Amino acid sequence: NKNNLIDLDKKHFIHPTSPIKQQQEQGAKSVIAEGEGIYLKDVDGKTFIDAISSLWNVNVGHGRKELAYAAQEQMSKLAFSSAFSTFSHEPAILLAEKIAEIAPDDLNAVFFTSGGSESNDSAFKLAHHYWKLKGEPKRHKFIARKKAYHGVAAASTNATGISEFREMGGLHVSNFVHVETPYEISTSEAVASIRDMIEREGPETIAAFLAEPVQGAGGVIIPPRDYFQEVRKLCDEYGILFIADEVITGFGRTGKMFGLEHWQVTPDMMTFAKGVTSGYIPLGGVVVSDSIHQVLKERSTGTLFHGFTYSGHPTAAAVALKNIEIIENEQLVQNSQAMCKVLLKGFQKIKEDIDIVGDVRTLGLLGAVEIVKNPETNERFSSEVNAAPKVIDALHERGVICRSVTFGGTDIICFAPPLTINEAQVNDIVERLHDAITEVREAILV
Ligand code: PLP
Repeated sequence: NKNNLIDLDKKHFIHPTSPIKQQQEQGAKSVIAEGEGIYLKDVDGKTFIDAISSLWNVNVGHGRKELAYAAQEQMSKLAFSSAFSTFSHEPAILLAEKIAEIAPDDLNAVFFTSGGSESNDSAFKLAHHYWKLKGEPKRHKFIARKKAYHGVAAASTNATGISEFREMGGLHVSNFVHVETPYEISTSEAVASIRDMIEREGPETIAAFLAEPVQGAGGVIIPPRDYFQEVRKLCDEYGILFIADEVITGFGRTGKMFGLEHWQVTPDMMTFAKGVTSGYIPLGGVVVSDSIHQVLKERSTGTLFHGFTYSGHPTAAAVALKNIEIIENEQLVQNSQAMCKVLLKGFQKIKEDIDIVGDVRTLGLLGAVEIVKNPETNERFSSEVNAAPKVIDALHERGVICRSVTFGGTDIICFAPPLTINEAQVNDIVERLHDAITEVREAILV
């Protein structure tokens, strides 16, 4: 029963990124048992709208039997076989081909991993290896941005711009420096911050610049229209690689297949995970450009000493292929674009009605609502007020699951519902959000 599960959970299960003390004192808030479409059901039978696609990843929605059958079929035939060295197998080959087809321009070769953190660590190692093969071994530094989230493996932790993650664990990889992100500053200020960093560190030492097209965990930070074009120009000027972390923004999330397509910018490497399988099975990877692939192929003399047991896992690859087929057949990229407008309209109405709502924004089905003390001046509530977490609790009571971001004194409510969502369901989320913020406003302004 539920209480037994909660006791066992407290005793044995260390949760990822969790308020561990609170978890011990209060127990798990929900023990989820089932999912269907945009809905999740807990062990008590209470239904929730999953307004964040669990961890920004269940793009095709819950309960898709086709994905279960794809896994079953592949597992029955060949659950696992290694792709190490010169062995290969059909699912990974076909998935690599499919990703090359849907990835922008000349991004045509894929290295597979089991998730986003591994993908980013792999991208850093491949980038450095590429520079060594090119005869520029001094290029070992990476420029990432403040508020960035790139994962929790050794290098991706240090690439992450949210300092709390870097300080946990104490494994400091010194190759990473952080620049300003275009949040509440202009493109020219943000790009100047990158240029200054390149000059300070020495252009000949920089391997790559790294960015999420839309920062997710940092609070759904959508860049100004010209930002990434300016970034691409700057990277080209200094001959620096541009790595796009499309772990959240890939596979239709922003209303394009990949986020950077919004600004017609092509990176040199692109990392992905999450939406590639909609979370039905772990898989991620790095896609590299033809010119990088060529250097890796032609200039390497021995073994590429980088690979995971599960790089190109056949069952995971079969599920990814079926998942991408669903995204294409059901036109979920287009739906993400269409529902973006409905979500934004709803957010704007909330902003008009309630005087503690600051900026609201959407790109595809990534959205954010900021809670502020004064929308005119953007003055924020002090962190003791706990404004955003209170909204999250009020939403939970109203049967909506989503996330808040409070790093750096912000109160941002983030949304990323499954791409299968329809207009009535978007409006349902908006109505419940309206109620939740109204209730929290009354509680904190007394
Ligand atoms: N990159 C981005 C942009 C992410 O949002 C995440 C996870 O949230 C990661 C990387 C890390 O991915 P994973 O948790 O699969 O290792």
